Amino acid sequence: MERIPVSGPWITQKEIDYVTDAVTNAWYSNANCFHERFENAFAKHLGVRFAAALPSCTSAIHLALAARGIGPGDEVIVPEATWIASAAPVHYVGATTVFADVDPKTWCMSAESFEACITPKTKAVIPVDLYGNMPDWDAILAVAARHGVFVIEDAAEAVGSEYKGRPAGSLGEVGVFSFHGSKTLTTGEGGLLATNDETLFRRALFLRDHGRKPGDRMFYNAEIAYKYKMSSMQAALGLAQLERVDELITRKREIFSWYKAELAGLPGVALNPEPPGTKNSYWMVTVILDASYKLSKVQLMDLMTNEQIDTRPFFHPLSSIPAYHDSEQARIARARNSVAYQISAAGINLPSALNLDQAKVRHVCDVLKAILKHA
Ligand SMILES: *Cc1c(COP(=O)(O)O)cnc(C)c1O
Repeated sequence: MERIPVSGPWITQKEIDYVTDAVTNAWYSNANCFHERFENAFAKHLGVRFAAALPSCTSAIHLALAARGIGPGDEVIVPEATWIASAAPVHYVGATTVFADVDPKTWCMSAESFEACITPKTKAVIPVDLYGNMPDWDAILAVAARHGVFVIEDAAEAVGSEYKGRPAGSLGEVGVFSFHGSKTLTTGEGGLLATNDETLFRRALFLRDHGRKPGDRMFYNAEIAYKYKMSSMQAALGLAQLERVDELITRKREIFSWYKAELAGLPGVALNPEPPGTKNSYWMVTVILDASYKLSKVQLMDLMTNEQIDTRPFFHPLSSIPAYHDSEQARIARARNSVAYQISAAGINLPSALNLDQAKVRHVCDVLKAILKHA
């Protein structure tokens, strides 16, 4: 059997047609036509007023922090269990990263831990909709409002997820997305910043174009800033994918339902939660093994690799990885964030690519069941 990849997109003739149109026509006075269509359609999809297409989600988080004026001396709280891109931009602006523990019910940031991390220096929080799972947003937003903390929702993995009917990416003051090739909706590489805050949005547009005033035609820069723009070809790809977003999410949910049926009744195996009132778009189907299996994620990944099945480790706690290990905040976090350490130790992402079929999912589950039987 051929190798089963862990992630990958679903590209159709529509995507090819739109990108061909862009590379042929989106020049001269039409240079921005696909950006405008993509940004408008994405804002409409989210029900927010403004959206800016960017080269990555990392740049979107960086811009959100910079546009808010966050910098040295400020603290920004991120969940312990996430991809480093959620946190690295805090360092770019010179602020201090604080790691909050996650909630065992959602695997996302715990509102209690978030509140416990708040100090007079706390300026922002970046909750993450991990693997498509939704955190307890009511509780998180209540804590943020009580303490006046700016909320950036990292919805990189959650296009199509919902919390009480509200789309992922529309819950914070800013929502950010990734369209990396592994993500549910892709532009190859890409990202987006969405917000209802016009002042913040204008500032983000200024900062992402080398600090030029809107409409500047004299190449006369008011500040030293950044260059964060997406190409027309990427915007065209994004537009085609967005017009198929319901289909993409339906397929993701279908893939999850195949796994759920195959793994039902297997003791000590937890799959992505979908608490009442939420919709999970299941970017990555994830299993967490009970400690009784005495199998680490590394061992499990190796055994799956031997069978030509690609997996990924559950994100390592950020305070454990070399990039952050020696910081003062990481030391504090290691003593505090036991839930993230526990979940991460025994979790892996199973193949969740959009080209999977039911037979392949059955094969992955058969392999997993055989491994667990002998564990
Ligand atoms: C993929 C991802 C990002 C970063 O996206 P890029 O587009 O690669 O910058 C940020 N946060 C999370 C949670 C992600 O999964």
